[in-house]
Formats: sequence, structure tokens, C-alpha cells
Amino acid sequence: MTRFDTIIIGAGAAGLMCAAHAGPNTLVIDHAKAPGEKIRISGGGRCNFTNMYAAPENFLSQNPHFAKSALSRYTQWDFIDLVARHGIAYHEKTLGQLFCDHSAKDIIAMLLAEMSPASLWLNTTVKEITRNDGYTLRLDREGRDVTVTAPNLVVACGGKSIPKMGATGFGYQIAAQFGHDVTETRPALVPLTFGDQQKEAFRALAGVACDARVSGGGTAFEEAVLFTHRGLSGPAILQISSYWRETEAIRVNLAPGVDVFGGLRDVRQSRGRVAPATALAEVLPKRLAQDVAERAGAQGNIADMNDTALRSLADAVEAWELYPIGTEGYRTAEVTLGGVDTDGLNARTMESKSVPGLYFIGEVVDVTGWLGGYNFQWAWSSGWAAGQAIRAT
Ligand code: FAD
Repeated sequence: MTRFDTIIIGAGAAGLMCAAHAGPNTLVIDHAKAPGEKIRISGGGRCNFTNMYAAPENFLSQNPHFAKSALSRYTQWDFIDLVARHGIAYHEKTLGQLFCDHSAKDIIAMLLAEMSPASLWLNTTVKEITRNDGYTLRLDREGRDVTVTAPNLVVACGGKSIPKMGATGFGYQIAAQFGHDVTETRPALVPLTFGDQQKEAFRALAGVACDARVSGGGTAFEEAVLFTHRGLSGPAILQISSYWRETEAIRVNLAPGVDVFGGLRDVRQSRGRVAPATALAEVLPKRLAQDVAERAGAQGNIADMNDTALRSLADAVEAWELYPIGTEGYRTAEVTLGGVDTDGLNARTMESKSVPGLYFIGEVVDVTGWLGGYNFQWAWSSGWAAGQAIRAT
């Protein structure tokens, strides 16, 4: 039996960050064959590693106060400092989102350098966890039975999103084993799907993108929307998917900040012989303008349309009500909403309030960020908080 001070299950963003701070006699295990696989593929291979404007308001949780402590003690600026110290070049893409200039692999290499000399065992699965004095784990390490023990166990196995990449939901099982509640989990930051008729209409628009304001679930986001063969995607849709619930509508304004009705009246006044779709194409992509005009039943010349008709055409642009039937699910969801109930955890240390030495960090916890680098920031902040607390014991 090999003894460690700390065992971390999950060599993802949160687990590696925690290992960098928990102390040298730490073991990180992962069933995958490489560490940080989600970091590697994130941000189109460039990893949107944090957001300059990260604040507690950008996170969803049953307890909106829970994330405040960790986020304020290890901030985006701390992580940006770390990235800069490692000489990793980065840039802001949009809305405070920071990406590596070169490759997400730079972030993985940085975390591995930071966690040295802690041990990393890959291709390792957990067969059993028991707790007496500390935690004893029976492992399968590359086909061999191995037993390890430590007074601290950190659960950093992420959520259920993208099972193909090794997501298992195992962290929720560990939580249940030790008497922790898990809030309802659901796919988030995920494209929305629609019934056959709507899907057919979207199919004709596949590939079209535009900036839009999408409202639903009591909030709104103004970012790009992308029409696909399966439904709606793009940043604004992924954002709203975290708030949308079954049977609810979403409302899409395809031309936010534009006075569409006023614009249409001007066109009627100055160039009455253009078709409604042509007038709309001044503010919308051409294919979308055509689709909106058809949906609103606008025919003939714009000169033939009275104010009521123009108003309903403008409404078709600005207040498009849509009823998604679901989401693409965990197969494509960037994150899992919900997770280990924060009521059972210490917000400063991430340690279980009822089971000493047991910690939960990262996505497995019921803290979910917006799209835009917020989820990694939560992984860094919560991983750091647990690592610091463990080192201080
Ligand atoms: P993970 O990074 O998922 O790590 C969990 C680890 O645990 C994995 O290595 C897994 O193999 C391991 N594991 C799971 N089950 C077991 C088990 N039973 N036994 C042993 N090991 C196990 N967020 C951003 O902020 N910016 C982005 O640009 C961004 N892009 C993304 C792109 C995609 C395609 C996806 C899917 C997600 C993206 N995210 C992004 C979200 C972000 O990747 C996650 O929020 C973050 O990785 C969570 O970190 P974590 O350490 O908690 O979990």
C-alpha cells in the first residue's frame, strides 16, 4: 500500500490546479490516457482559459453566493499572471475572453510543470473507496491492482458532458457514497433542438449566422446565433440553454439595437418598389431576410404594405418566439449544470462539511459558468482553494 498526503481523482483543469498547490506528496489519477483532455480541445484548440470580467454573477448555482469566496481569493488576474510567468502568449478575442495565441497544450504543459513533483497516474480506474482513518482506494493501474491511501481525497472528475472524452459522472457517485446530495444535473452550454416542422425551416438556413439578442428563463444574451441542420447553436443559444427549461419559449431579436419598423418605413418612403426581403437584407443576412419575409407573409412591394403589415414584419425580426423541444444533450454540451450540492461544502476550502478530508472541486460541484472562459476560472479558483486548504493542514 502506497501512502500519499492527498489523492486527487481527475487530471482535468481543477485536479491539476489543485495538485499544483496541495503539496509534493500528492497523487493525481485519471482513467484517461492523457491529462487535461478537455483543456486540449477547448476554445477550438486555443483554450479560452479565463475571462477578464469574471464575477460571481456569471455563474449558476442553487446557492449563488457559494462561488464568491474562491473566485475572489484566486481571481482571473492570478491565473493571467501564472500564464504570463510561463511565457504563454495570449489575446482577448471578444467580451473579455482570453485565448492562447498558440495552443491549449501550453496550458496543460504549464499545469504539469506547476504540479511537479506530485505523481500522475494515467490509465487508472478506481475500483473501491473506503474511509477509516483516511481514504483507501483500490485501483486498477494499467491492469494491475494497486492500493493507495491518504488523509485527503479530492474529487475532481468533472461532469457528464462529452462521455466520448471520458466524462463519467463518477464524482456524483462518490458524493452519494459519502452522504452528499447532488442537485438535478442537465446538459448546459448546448445547442437547442426543435420539432420536425421548425427543424425543416432551419435546415434551409443552415450555416447562416447573425448577432442576436436571445431571451429566456428570465435572462438575455446578445451574441451570435448560428442556424444548423439540427436546430440553433452559436454563443447566444449556448448561453440561454443554461437557463431554458422544457416547454418554455425563447425569444430571438435578430437585429438588436436596430429600429426595424422605422427602417422599413423609411424604405417604403424612399424606395417603395423594393421587396420586403430586400429591405430586410439591409440588416439581416440575405437568406435569413428571405425566410423572415416568408414567415411574416410579406409579399409584393414594400409600398403595398400598411403600417400594421410593416409592424408585423418588424416583429418577425425582433420578437421571434420559438419553442425548443430539447437540447443536443451531453453528447455536445460543454458543461453539466448542477452537481454536488454546495450546502454540504465549505465555500472557502471546498471540503465536505460532514466528511473530513473529502473535497469536491471544478465542474462536479453545483457551480456552472457562462460561456467565455468562466468554467475554467471556476476550475482554477476551486482547485486552488482546496489545494491551499490541504497544504495548510
Ligand atoms: P474535467 O476537465 O472534465 O476533468 C475531469 C477529469 O476526470 C478528466 O480528465 C476525466 O478523464 C477524469 N475522470 C472522469 N471520470 C473518471 C473516473 N471514473 N476515474 C478516473 N478519472 C475520471 N470552459 C472554458 O472556460 N473555456 C473554454 O474554452 C471551454 N471550452 C470547452 C470546449 C468543450 C468542447 C468542452 C466539452 C468544454 C469546454 N469548457 C470550456 C468547459 C471546461 O472544459 C470544463 O468546465 C472544465 O474542464 C472542468 O474542469 P474539471 O477539472 O472539473 O473537469
